[in-house]
Amino acid sequence: HRVEYVQFIDHIIERFAFNAKEGLTIKRHLPSKASYVYMDSDKLTQVLDNIISNAMKYSPEGGDIDVTVEVQKHHIVTKVSDEGVGIPEEKVDKIFDRFYRVDKARTRQMGGTGLGLAIAKDLIEAHDGAIWADSREGQGTTISFSLPLMRKKRG
Ligand code: ATP
Ligand code: MG
Repeated sequence: HRVEYVQFIDHIIERFAFNAKEGLTIKRHLPSKASYVYMDSDKLTQVLDNIISNAMKYSPEGGDIDVTVEVQKHHIVTKVSDEGVGIPEEKVDKIFDRFYRVDKARTRQMGGTGLGLAIAKDLIEAHDGAIWADSREGQGTTISFSLPLMRKKRG
């Protein structure tokens, strides 16, 4: 379906901001212009769910979660940044693998199977998009994904 992406993200974040635990603030940085993406909203909701619940789960001390949407020439990029525990540099590339969890001892108590990001990657790639991570241990993590923009109708 053709979905107006900015409003879609705005609604999803609003729901998360409402349910966020104390000490966590979710901030939106969204473009003012409408942008259209051909996508399955349920699947994109699942992607955002997985990414934002990680940002909350791995930010035990709270902090800001920033959700930024940037329009590029052919793609729209969504970035979710947190100020949480971060990921050691040599492990960042593995977090999209099935069942991979960075620190078994540390994360066991938090629960989870290590599937959230693997599912997100599958769903984004099914939309001809890409997903990647930037992180600094002890400082925070940014998960970004890009989706193809629909071309403007002539008219
Ligand atoms: P599940 O999502 O299946 O409940 P999970 O959160 O452990 O379990 P993923 O969402 O796939 O699994 O994430 C894989 C691993 O990547 C996590 O176990 C965690 O170690 C690390 N990780 C993911 N997101 C973050 C983040 N925002 N900050 C720090 N570490 C993260
Ligand atoms: Mg997860």
